[in-house]
Amino acid sequence: MKIGVIGGGQLGRMLALAGTPLGMNFAFLDPAPDACAAALGEHLRADYGDQDHLRQLADEVDLVTFEFESVPAETVAFLSQFVPVYPSAEALRIARDRLFEKSMFRDLGIPTPAFADILSQQDLDAAVASIGLPAVLKTRTLGYDGKGQKVLRSAEDVVGTFAELGSVPCLLEGFVPFTGEVSLVAVRGRDGETRFYPLVHNTHESGILRLSVASEAHPLQALAEDYVGRVLQKLDYVGVMAFEFFEVDGGLKANEIAPRVHNSGHWTIEGAECSQFENHLRAIAGLPLGSTAKVGESAMLNFIGEVPAVDKVVAIDDCHLHHYGKAFKAGRKVGHATLRCADMATLEARIADVEALIAG
Ligand code: AMP
Repeated sequence: MKIGVIGGGQLGRMLALAGTPLGMNFAFLDPAPDACAAALGEHLRADYGDQDHLRQLADEVDLVTFEFESVPAETVAFLSQFVPVYPSAEALRIARDRLFEKSMFRDLGIPTPAFADILSQQDLDAAVASIGLPAVLKTRTLGYDGKGQKVLRSAEDVVGTFAELGSVPCLLEGFVPFTGEVSLVAVRGRDGETRFYPLVHNTHESGILRLSVASEAHPLQALAEDYVGRVLQKLDYVGVMAFEFFEVDGGLKANEIAPRVHNSGHWTIEGAECSQFENHLRAIAGLPLGSTAKVGESAMLNFIGEVPAVDKVVAIDDCHLHHYGKAFKAGRKVGHATLRCADMATLEARIADVEALIAG
């Protein structure tokens, strides 16, 4: 079976690493000459709106999936005429726009921060008056890793902020005084079978994920599964979805969904019976899903900007290196390490070892 992937970054690369043993081949559509997934499959180097290349991809593959959600709607609609596309155009339409996403949470009874659609500075002033400060202004589309958003703490912060974010449609959200951030990675097959990985506790720095730790029997696991299950069913979703929550007042508030494999699920490559990458491929290919059970205690640390010396990373016990083969650049995710240990005390010690290496 040949899988077409829109986007050829590290997520595409890890999909191919998981799918190759299943007998799958891959083609990636990505305009970047140095797309790091290209080492693992065919690289169609073209813009996402290039219909000639989209048609070529559709003709070559059995189905198409995505490694990012900001794919133009026209691209998805065009491909869908010729080849099955998972997740669906509707799932991508909702997930790429924060207004649609938050409205869906509200309609499904899933708690989420107060929010308002912002199309002008006047809208922003009015929304700040009703939602209050602090608040977070985010572009509705194309934001990632903390980009395209600004925390508003005082009246001065509000002045001119709509223009500062590019005068594009935005969402104002009430600031959530969270005690932690967690994510739930789930997978749903073509037949509706659904499985959930354990909740993961995430630590961000400057809006970028640094550390994910898979939980042991988290008290909010069942609640998170209930909320995520509602979204998966509503969208008749096929594939892996990651759902990010704020932990607040002993409950959960929905932040956002990613209709794809997700950075907070990278630990599953070594830390779960079947990784999020393999399970995404199994789901979209109509194969039985694999076990989402944890094997040992597990954590993932991102390498941002550069990967430490390989010999030093692999010298750490229980440590598995994933080097994405990308050019090093400040603020860019260029690799990660998974730790898989027998117990939490060892895991904490190993996390400290990797953090020391990152700190240099
Ligand atoms: P996002 O791109 O929406 O995931 O936001 C990136 C990070 O900004 C989140 O992981 C949080 O740490 C922080 N953040 C986003 N929205 C809020 C909010 N409404 N209240 C508090 N912190 C937020």
